[in-house]
Amino acid sequence: MLNKKAIITGISGQDGAYLAKLLLDNDYEVLGLVRNINVVNYFGLEYLKIKDKVAILECDLLDINKLHDVIFDFNPTEIYNLAAQSSVHYSFKFPIETFHFNTISVYNLLETIKKINNEIKFYQASSSEMFGRVNNLPISENSILHPLSPYAISKASAHFTCIHYRESYNMHISCGILFNHESYLRQDTFFVKKIIRESIKISKGEQKELLVGNIDIKRDFGYAPKYVEAMFLMMQQEIPSDYLICSGKSIALRDLIYYVFEKLNIPKNLCIVSKELYRPAEIEDMYGDNTKAKTTLNWNYNLAIFETLDLLIEEEIKNIN
Ligand code: NAP
Repeated sequence: MLNKKAIITGISGQDGAYLAKLLLDNDYEVLGLVRNINVVNYFGLEYLKIKDKVAILECDLLDINKLHDVIFDFNPTEIYNLAAQSSVHYSFKFPIETFHFNTISVYNLLETIKKINNEIKFYQASSSEMFGRVNNLPISENSILHPLSPYAISKASAHFTCIHYRESYNMHISCGILFNHESYLRQDTFFVKKIIRESIKISKGEQKELLVGNIDIKRDFGYAPKYVEAMFLMMQQEIPSDYLICSGKSIALRDLIYYVFEKLNIPKNLCIVSKELYRPAEIEDMYGDNTKAKTTLNWNYNLAIFETLDLLIEEEIKNIN
């Protein structure tokens, strides 16, 4: 009989799908919460061939009464909170909606767990964007937060809410502070996915050029299926804590684009920079130190960014129609 039961919010997203697969592989019963049962994006779950192996339930995370009933009925051992308005770009356009959902949903989840059973383990999807204006590199778990976008502010607020509940109510809450991580399941609007998809189109003569914003900034990118392993490992620890999950190295977006272009035989001059695509505030460089995750969690991550890009390009080409 199964006794390991997990709820995943945001199961329709990139991480939700990979995490559901990992939990099923570890004999968990999985319940995914979605905002609207009539318009669920099943792409990730279908791609990983697990759609029929998870239960899906509609539950607005802003409705604390409904949330209470769902958690009480399912009686999970672990809750992974991945649901969020996750786009920095979109958060500049819709700051209030982003802040409201990304923070109140976390309060509702934690209040409900506290009330029902504060031994339920809770994972919060925090973000490297919280660090924003960085003074010292590499970033560590102790670096100061200085968020530079409404998204980052919402994630920082949720992050501190989690720490507060952990410290005040002795709850098993861990925050994974994840740096950018990519996969075939990434939404098309996110940078790496967009670069690879559009570059393939250029190489096939279906698109003329690649229009980009500020590509002189540097970021730390990793591979999503490996990053969800760290989430799972955090929930298996006796003592909850916060962990940076990152590759440990950054790359200039320009170099990333040129690498993809070279692999696909595209001349560099087809990459066009538009100042109109620059963000109101931008982080210049960020990369993290993953020592704590590697030593405490035994998280095994050795992929270099170019190996990750090779995997992503290969999978995208394989699936292109
Ligand atoms: P994603 O693909 O954008 O998925 C986000 C999930 O949240 C989707 O299932 C989406 O549901 C759900 N969601 C969004 N707005 C919602 C709302 N108002 N009500 C209910 N559900 C809502 O994101 P991801 O890449 O898997 O990331 C998972 C989590 O990690 C997010 O919290 C993200 O902010 C965080 N994170 C991601 C990265 C990264 O590089 N991927 C880095 C750091 C932190 P729908 O399908 O209905 O839209």
